[in-house]
Amino acid sequence: MKFVLDTHCHTVSSGHAYSTLLENAKYASDTGLELIAITDHSDRLPGGAHLFHFHNMSVIPKKIYGVEILKGVETNIIDYSGNVDLDEETLEMLDIVIASFHPPCINPGSMKENTNALIKAMENPHIDIIGHPGDPRYPIDVKEVVSAAKEYKTLLEINNHSLRPGSFRAGGSDIVLNIIKECININMPFIMGSDAHICFDVGNFRYIEELIKDIEVPEHLVVNTSVETLKNFLS
Ligand SMILES: [Zn+2]
Ligand SMILES: [Zn+2]
Repeated sequence: MKFVLDTHCHTVSSGHAYSTLLENAKYASDTGLELIAITDHSDRLPGGAHLFHFHNMSVIPKKIYGVEILKGVETNIIDYSGNVDLDEETLEMLDIVIASFHPPCINPGSMKENTNALIKAMENPHIDIIGHPGDPRYPIDVKEVVSAAKEYKTLLEINNHSLRPGSFRAGGSDIVLNIIKECININMPFIMGSDAHICFDVGNFRYIEELIKDIEVPEHLVVNTSVETLKNFLS
């Protein structure tokens, strides 16, 4: 399977990432990617980008080093009703919106609360992707979440960074595998995100590839294989 896109990349604007937009684009170009999304953290996460960062993204060219650049955000889910820390107007300006749980912005709730938060976030038409739903600190009902993703046409992200040994979110590989299997079960595509915090990780899905090596994943269910498939979801 050839992967041509990565929808989850951070830059220095996230406060705890180490590469610039140009460095990310250059690495993506050198490694044969066709598209990347720049999805810095919004500002409830300490060090995250100020609101003006997101309002000013139209200065970024559509392509850099031949790689299409989507202007996006990784916004924080802030309550169990699925609200996020950016207003509708800002979300609407962006090409792509990931919504995720992060501990400084929301405490882990019960399985029911976490599941409800994700489903409500998916109902928000501006939210395209749920970031790292396999975080073991935020237990979810996998079947309910995958079925809601299909209903609301929201992609669930399989996050490479979470599977890295030593990651804050490590230990969730069984949950992640369950999400993938349930997606296959109901024929719902999923998306892989590197969650790169340095350019050398852009397009890096090696821990996911390792995790799924023994199961058969149909290529049409992996959105990273086609820019067109991604754009169908975003439109
Ligand atoms: Zn995140
Ligand atoms: Zn991230």
